[in-house]
Amino acid sequence: MKQAVAPPPYGKTDVGPLGRLPEEWAQAVLPLGGRSFHGKSVFKWLHNRGITDPEQMTDLPKALRTKLAEAGVGPVLEIVQERRAQDDTRKLLVRMKDGATVETVLIPSVTGGRSDLPSPVEEDADAAAAVDDEDEAPESPEKDGPIRVTQCISTQVGCAMGCVFCASGVAGLKRQMTSEEIVAQVLLGKSRLDAREQLRNVVFMGMGEPLHNYDATARVLRLLTHAEGIGLSSRRITVSTSGLVPEIARLGEDFAGQVGLAISLHAADDETRTRLMPINKKYPLAKLMDALRAYPLPRRRRITIEYTLVAGKNDAPEEAKKLVKLLRGLQVKINLIPMNPIEASTLGPPDLAGVLAFQRILCDAGYSCFIRRRRGDEVSAACGQLAILGAKPKVRVDRS
Ligand code: SAH
Ligand code: SF4
Repeated sequence: MKQAVAPPPYGKTDVGPLGRLPEEWAQAVLPLGGRSFHGKSVFKWLHNRGITDPEQMTDLPKALRTKLAEAGVGPVLEIVQERRAQDDTRKLLVRMKDGATVETVLIPSVTGGRSDLPSPVEEDADAAAAVDDEDEAPESPEKDGPIRVTQCISTQVGCAMGCVFCASGVAGLKRQMTSEEIVAQVLLGKSRLDAREQLRNVVFMGMGEPLHNYDATARVLRLLTHAEGIGLSSRRITVSTSGLVPEIARLGEDFAGQVGLAISLHAADDETRTRLMPINKKYPLAKLMDALRAYPLPRRRRITIEYTLVAGKNDAPEEAKKLVKLLRGLQVKINLIPMNPIEASTLGPPDLAGVLAFQRILCDAGYSCFIRRRRGDEVSAACGQLAILGAKPKVRVDRS
């Protein structure tokens, strides 16, 4: 274990102007000489139109625009680097006001299979999103129709959880992100979409453990789903967690189970899981499974189980059989993620035959089990590869 896992802080995280909800804005503009309806208008400019410069908020009185600028309303993030993979996945390295950097990834949906997987490998087209589309009519991918984009966002600079296969875990926790820094990634992401692209899903699967920054994460969920803002449906948002049991319960309660939940399981017994994920010592599998059973899952929705396959650690057929038993009775779908290599570790993925054999056992037992497409690999944008500028040589700014 690299470091002790700190208990989640429950203190108030700084909200910042972009983190305010309309009713808070209605109050916040009063001392600046504005009226409450101006405040609601500011929220719309920021979240619905993506305008952060008060000068451009043309329906506000000039004096209020000046006061807003003086009060710090303005861009929160700056793009340091944008890298585009051949599959159009884009990784944005963004800098916050204190100079700390995180990454966010835009993942356009793709049709057609992977060339390195033999057919008929079952593969989930939306697996990158971990979004469960089962209860929705399938969309026909029209030739000139919109391209659905999933954005993967970060919630912390680094991560305290110390999972051995993850670049963020190896880096350790540098600091929490504020709700405005988290939501700003989505506004920035939207501004980088191509003409045909539409933001469809947001997944909290970037750097950091979202439930270890619960207050900010919950606020961002409210911001993203607000009808006068970005207006995403909560079922199009997935929060991924390494298994912080009390916060899973809290999320379920606060959002009535409407937010998609993904659990990073990665092992089916405590010994293996603790070796890979130190958090398992604090919240062992029995407790985690209880939390999943108690999650107020809406009918026809499923919890996503993420299982990163690490060669020689958790990829044996016996592990798949244990997983079959562990998950019995739960409404789940399983995403297998062959481990993406990280520089800080010699661990790696099993070969394709091993991945397929593992999948076969789960499929034969009746589970929906998908192999996660590897997206954005050549720009280090795949799961677990996101890192902090300067912390790892792999994410050095590419000036070529
Ligand atoms: N902290 C949260 C969300 C971010 S990680 C969590 O752990 O769930 C998103 C997913 O990528 C998790 O399932 C995580 O376990 C997985 N992951 C991390 N490093 C990886 C790697 N090197 N290869 C493949 N998946 C990885
Ligand atoms: Fe943190 Fe998730 Fe990485 Fe584990 S896998 S270290 S919880 S970001």
